[in-house]
Amino acid sequence: MKIFILDPIHSIPLADANQIGEVIKWDDEEIDNISEAEAIIVRTSIIDRERINRMPQLKIIAKHGIGTDNIDLEHAKEKGIIVTNTPTANMESVAELVVALTLASARKIAYSHDLTREGLDKPAPKELTGLELGGKNVGLIGTGRIGQKVGSIFSAGFNMKVYGYDPFLTEEKAKELGIVKVDTVKELLKEADVVSISVPLTKDTTNLISMDELKQMKENAILINTSRGKIVNEADLYIALKEGIIRAAALDVFEIEPPKKDNPLLSLSNFIATPHIGAATEEALIRMGQTAVEEIKLLMNEQTPKFIVNR
Ligand code: NAD
Repeated sequence: MKIFILDPIHSIPLADANQIGEVIKWDDEEIDNISEAEAIIVRTSIIDRERINRMPQLKIIAKHGIGTDNIDLEHAKEKGIIVTNTPTANMESVAELVVALTLASARKIAYSHDLTREGLDKPAPKELTGLELGGKNVGLIGTGRIGQKVGSIFSAGFNMKVYGYDPFLTEEKAKELGIVKVDTVKELLKEADVVSISVPLTKDTTNLISMDELKQMKENAILINTSRGKIVNEADLYIALKEGIIRAAALDVFEIEPPKKDNPLLSLSNFIATPHIGAATEEALIRMGQTAVEEIKLLMNEQTPKFIVNR
């Protein structure tokens, strides 16, 4: 089987892919012969209708990662092409980044570093006074794999009370997870000292957090988004941070990626940016690549892949 790997993957799963088929990878000259592809592995490349139509022999699109918003799932389905993802491979890494960004925002780590590097005349200047997380409330928008992991770390490590907004979360499941279920985003925003967003990008979640929602948040609240950029309205977030409507925010994902140097958010000392590194750990990169290769292998052996997203 001809496997086209469109975006760079870790060397370990790359070697695995070479064991099961003829691999054409992102920097090979033959990568332009995409019409020959029978399987593709994709991270962030856009696989739209037109690109799918250029691959008449394609049987499987194996997404290396979770979010499949870069793939036209419906069109793939119409063409009988299976789309899979790697839902369990990177939740630990993303959840750990949420915690890191929350602590960095609460304790102004990035700003402290900048001021220290510029040169200070006394230690611990007033503007670097932070906040504790212990005993406060975290609000999860989306209580799927990443949301649950984030909630459990904050609850176990910081004794935080966990609120969750997720239309698919049942009362029973919420109880089992130790999450206080709320029925609207606004209810959650009123309670939360830290808001963390872990939802897919859909019509419903686009601009889920805009000025109206930011105004519902506590003055000292911290907003973290590691899901997809378009879920938070960046222009509104800029105003909210600049005017002190909320205390701080950190984004791993942006409306345009990577964010441009002149993105106004980057001028703010109460804002932290990371360039979509949520799943970028050695462990997650190996797991995501291996899962994508495994899915292709299952299909080649006429078995059903485990993580089909366009049934
Ligand atoms: P998941 O499918 O396990 O959970 C998503 C949850 O969102 C589900 O429980 C679902 O019910 C809920 N949801 C759907 N629509 C909603 C809405 N309108 N309001 C509230 N909740 C809603 O997915 P996950 O593994 O937790 O990942 C979440 C998202 O994180 C992914 O879709 C992806 O876009 C993003 N992600 C980013 C990175 C990164 O590198 N930053 C890495 C992995 C995943």
